[in-house]
Amino acid sequence: MARERLYLFDTTLRDGAQTNGVDFTLADKISIATMLDDLGIDYVEGGYPGANPTDTDFFSKGRDLKTKFTAFGMTRRPGRSASNDPGLVALLDAKADAICFVAKSWDYHVRVALETTLEENLASIKDSVKAAKAKGREVLLDCEHFFDGYKANPPFALACAKAAYDEGARWVVLCDTNGGTLPHEVEQIVGEVVKVIPGDHVGIHAHNDTEQAVANSLAAVRAGARQIQGTLNGLGERCGNANLVSIIPTLKLKREFADKFDIGVSEAQLKALAHASHTLDEMLNRASNRYAPYVGENAFATKAGIHASAIMKEPATYEHVAPDAVGNKRRLLVSDQAGRSNVLAELDRIGLKVAKDDARIGRLLDEVKAREAEGYAYEAADASFELLARRVLGSVPNYFDVEKFDVNVEQRLNAKGERVTVTMAVVKVAVGGEHLISAAEGNGPVNALDVALRKDLGKYQPFISGLKLTDYRVRILDGGTGAVTRVLIESQDETGERWTTVGVSSNIIDASFQALMDSIVFKLVRSGAPA
Ligand SMILES: [Zn+2]
Repeated sequence: MARERLYLFDTTLRDGAQTNGVDFTLADKISIATMLDDLGIDYVEGGYPGANPTDTDFFSKGRDLKTKFTAFGMTRRPGRSASNDPGLVALLDAKADAICFVAKSWDYHVRVALETTLEENLASIKDSVKAAKAKGREVLLDCEHFFDGYKANPPFALACAKAAYDEGARWVVLCDTNGGTLPHEVEQIVGEVVKVIPGDHVGIHAHNDTEQAVANSLAAVRAGARQIQGTLNGLGERCGNANLVSIIPTLKLKREFADKFDIGVSEAQLKALAHASHTLDEMLNRASNRYAPYVGENAFATKAGIHASAIMKEPATYEHVAPDAVGNKRRLLVSDQAGRSNVLAELDRIGLKVAKDDARIGRLLDEVKAREAEGYAYEAADASFELLARRVLGSVPNYFDVEKFDVNVEQRLNAKGERVTVTMAVVKVAVGGEHLISAAEGNGPVNALDVALRKDLGKYQPFISGLKLTDYRVRILDGGTGAVTRVLIESQDETGERWTTVGVSSNIIDASFQALMDSIVFKLVRSGAPA
């Protein structure tokens, strides 16, 4: 049976940019659009030309992309002609392959927000679609509040959608703008729409306010819609948009969809999904969601020993899809609940060859259990576990010694009489026969210590120049003999490889120092730095 084509429309750069705290630069937009293009997304909505200088710039020249580069904007304003609406004229001038208009489809909004008649709203949709078609653009219409509008006044909501389709819009997109519609309602309403407009011209745009944007998108497809709009990592206003990073693998890997539909994303492109998801987080300067389906660090992690031994024999016993299909990897967590099988599997993944009955494995397991009792968390700190394993197996060189460090936090009045806090760290390191002293200021004690420590490691400096810290998490644990602090540090190098290290102490600086040291030593081991 021939498979039907299902189209993906990404609005990370338009709807996703509405997220609190997100502010893309032009360079960000270009690199995200390129990444989406490389993933095989059919449409990339770049923004709203005319609404702000960045978006206007983004559409000021043609972008060399395989995807349909799409500009977003409003239909003509009530009471104006299409040629006499500056917003619409700017949109038509944008260098885009497609134009996605947004229009009201809920009678209540037409009356209250637009303060116009239902007839004028329909006329505005027709005129705008006609004007964009005349300019040679592919046209989409986002029907805002479609589901709420349909519940209130089905004939009017349908008339809005039909007006665009009849004028030649390629897609009529049904938007759950407030995000409150449930999957069974979406399936039922889309089922009614496709009786009037062919499903291969109908799209779905779902928001995640009941955490069902992905489910709503799939429900719409089941009912006949053939375009899905969404964003990377579900970025978007309030609770976000439908998450394409969850939708894409579901369409590719789940039989119900994979047998019926083709999408623009190939198997090879699917393998780049986890990387794309993490790259976006990085640009937003935020830690990735460890629990994200398919692409999260925890998505294929197994802790208990009994599961781990089964998973090594037959991965399908505890995995719903193969992790490498989406560019993720299986992780068997090493913790105080772990058995030998977790440890062996993890050593194998790291590439450390050890015989199954080697006595050192028992020692490593005892060490993990003892340290986890003190507060270390190796399941969250893969790099610290690897170092511990390598140390027990005797393969970590002593690259350098920190002879002493000093961190000083001072609060005082500056020359202008303002109260300022100044932090400085001094680190004394011995590398080979050399003694090196580095000092650095920072925005806090850990930052100052980190900068000073990585400022000059003598002959090892070239190996750590691409190292940076991407996340820092602190937790106070209530130990038996009083509170201890656990610090987890996530690092990344110039190749994009990421790892996490852990430190534990009653003193937060000391715990941070341990985690920083592990991160640097791990990088030296990985880079094959000479002892
Ligand atoms: Zn939206």
